[in-house]
Amino acid sequence: MRIPPAMESICVLLPIPMSPYLEQELEKRFNLLKLWTAPHKTQFIKDHAASIRAIVGNASAGADAELIDSLPKLEIVASYSVGIDKVDLKYCKEKGVRVTNTPDVLTDDVADIAIGLTLAVMRRLCESDRYVRSGLWKKGDFKLTTKFTGQTVGILGLGRIGKAVARRAEAFSCPIAYSSRTEKPELKYKYYPTVVELASKCDVLVVACALTEETRYIINREVIDALGPKGVLINIGRGHHIDEPELLSALLEGRLGGAGLDVYQNEPEVPEQLFGLENVVLLPHAGSDTTETCNAMADLVIGNLEAHFLNKPLLTPVV
Ligand code: NAP
Repeated sequence: MRIPPAMESICVLLPIPMSPYLEQELEKRFNLLKLWTAPHKTQFIKDHAASIRAIVGNASAGADAELIDSLPKLEIVASYSVGIDKVDLKYCKEKGVRVTNTPDVLTDDVADIAIGLTLAVMRRLCESDRYVRSGLWKKGDFKLTTKFTGQTVGILGLGRIGKAVARRAEAFSCPIAYSSRTEKPELKYKYYPTVVELASKCDVLVVACALTEETRYIINREVIDALGPKGVLINIGRGHHIDEPELLSALLEGRLGGAGLDVYQNEPEVPEQLFGLENVVLLPHAGSDTTETCNAMADLVIGNLEAHFLNKPLLTPVV
């Protein structure tokens, strides 16, 4: 990538470590301030408040009103994620702070992981791997599992990732149903106006919507019960989409067939009761974590910062 001159003095705040490539490329261009390396973070922010013009956030570190208020020279929050639920968008708009994210480049990886999780739960891939490694196979064959091909896949949030999940599930001959804010008549998938109806009509429910005030805890007891004891819940959205205690009790009481989770309410903390359940597959919020995609996301973050400081149109503006 071409490095524009005269950016070296611009202070960019990186609150937590992200990818080494992103750090290295930011350091080549800007005066990168790594907040986590400071012994006293509040003091560090105060010391640099007059010079920080950009924040690079991600799915766990965004920009709330307090941080925005403490940085009077802040011009842009460039998120190394597509989800911007950790950024106070309304306040950014009010203060004239621009916001960018990293759409599209991660869509395929996250959709791949949604299908991977579904297969892992239904075909018990992790459990059967443990079966072989522990020598149990020598004592008898592994139990029968559940067929994925042909099952009805319900998608909550038919956006970029939701559509990519649908395309993949179609290759498994799965009928597709969905619920979203708006119906998409141009697509041949079956639309349900509510998530409860969707859950009652599908075998696998994939959560792929954005986290907003309307979608917080959208997967509640009613939805879980509608999915039922044979249903599988896959969450590749955000942890706060699901009422986690309700999910736990449904799994422990056998009211839900299984779950594949990439995201949790209090990451990296995961409810320990899940660890003993063989019908659950747990990933460490790794949906987009491939080298290829993380580098493409980093390039997009940098492209947005460069565009902003060169007074060019942002590549992927949110605000
Ligand atoms: P997107 O294209 O903006 O799609 C978001 C979808 O959410 C849209 O279909 C939208 O519906 C739907 N939605 C919003 N509010 C809703 C509501 N109240 N009820 C039902 N649906 C609602 O975003 P994307 O690129 O597909 O990403 C989706 C989300 O995936 C991100 O926001 C992020 O949280 C998550 N994600 C997770 C990972 C991971 O590593 N696990 C990685 C990337 C992204 P309409 O189509 O009707 O507008």
